[in-house]
Amino acid sequence: MVDLQGQYAKIKETVDASIEEVLNSSAYINGPYVHEFQAALEDYLNVKHVIPCANGTDALQIAVMGLGLEQGDEVITVDFTFAATVEVIALLKLTPVLIDIEPDTFNINIDALKKAITPKTKAIVPVHLFGLCANMDAVVEIAKEHHLWVIEDTAHAIGANYTFKDGKKQKVGTIGDVGTTSFFPSKNLGCYGDGGAIFTNNDELAHTIRGIVNHGMYKRYYHDVVGVNSRLDSIQAAVLKAKLSHLDTYCNARRDAARYYNKNFAENPHIITPTTRSNATPNCGQICATCDCHVFHQYTLKITNGKRDALHQYLLEQGIPNAIYYPVQLHQQKAYQDDRYREEDFKVTNKLVEMVISLPMHTELDEDQLTFITKKVNDFVLK
Ligand SMILES: *Cc1c(COP(=O)(O)O)cnc(C)c1O
Repeated sequence: MVDLQGQYAKIKETVDASIEEVLNSSAYINGPYVHEFQAALEDYLNVKHVIPCANGTDALQIAVMGLGLEQGDEVITVDFTFAATVEVIALLKLTPVLIDIEPDTFNINIDALKKAITPKTKAIVPVHLFGLCANMDAVVEIAKEHHLWVIEDTAHAIGANYTFKDGKKQKVGTIGDVGTTSFFPSKNLGCYGDGGAIFTNNDELAHTIRGIVNHGMYKRYYHDVVGVNSRLDSIQAAVLKAKLSHLDTYCNARRDAARYYNKNFAENPHIITPTTRSNATPNCGQICATCDCHVFHQYTLKITNGKRDALHQYLLEQGIPNAIYYPVQLHQQKAYQDDRYREEDFKVTNKLVEMVISLPMHTELDEDQLTFITKKVNDFVLK
């Protein structure tokens, strides 16, 4: 699905030199490399505070911890995401409320969001799924109206730009009260191990979170709150700093591959290709040169003639990696079932789990590979 070796080969010299520098310095934890990366990412995202941490799941958990919610408070998130998003809400003894998504963008459904709000609702966690921005104009407006926190799960979408209705652009993850991301190797900005980060423009929240990641300490050995130990190590920070300067190039390479795929599937009546979100014309469906709202963490098709599972098997036999993200909607997972859910409220996710299939998507795809993959997919689906 990804070609981490090919990507590494192109930046090997810089990355190796950065790692060697860390080794020679012995500043393995919280050294200058972590601060340099933090500052570089603050600059890139145009956000006041980046707080690095150990992984994307920690980032979510710590962000939610920073809000000071109480047991039983409801946090709304989507039924179609990686389990980490809902897991941290449940772990913190808050009540996750899962809602349906939009069929075309795979993102939070605004009508479902409005319906799910109760007096106990305290926060919304939109996930910019597969790299495409959620409808943040609407999320922010609803959050303001109901005094809710917004935590953006940006694990798939670092680098994506959201264009507001008024034309203003902002990097995803910096729009809500707090944003989180993962630097897992296969993510769009991946390190060579585990890593994550939290973003916010709120000084007070940043201060709270900096303490939480460090055992609840605001002064050494004085523990004001119950915290955790969650750190990005210096070697990973050095790798990330070297890779950050390539992130926009990486995003463009992914969009190029997506554009190629979309063009080659356009004539296939049984395939629905991913759309993008242009604010002037929501879901314009094009991936034009200026569409920077999608960074294609995944390239996910909908197969409409019932052949999704057969295609999955066939491609594996042909040596073409592919995956089903996600095979089970969260409200049907044993861990997250809740009597409040009614199947008719999950029309989209209930259908999507049987239709979606993700194809190889990374920065190193060349035209031969893309041609080979699209031909195999088209031939099989049309057969
Ligand atoms: C990967 C991922 C996470 C968690 O990131 P880790 O670094 O693996 O802990 C959270 N949310 C989503 C949507 C993800 O895909």
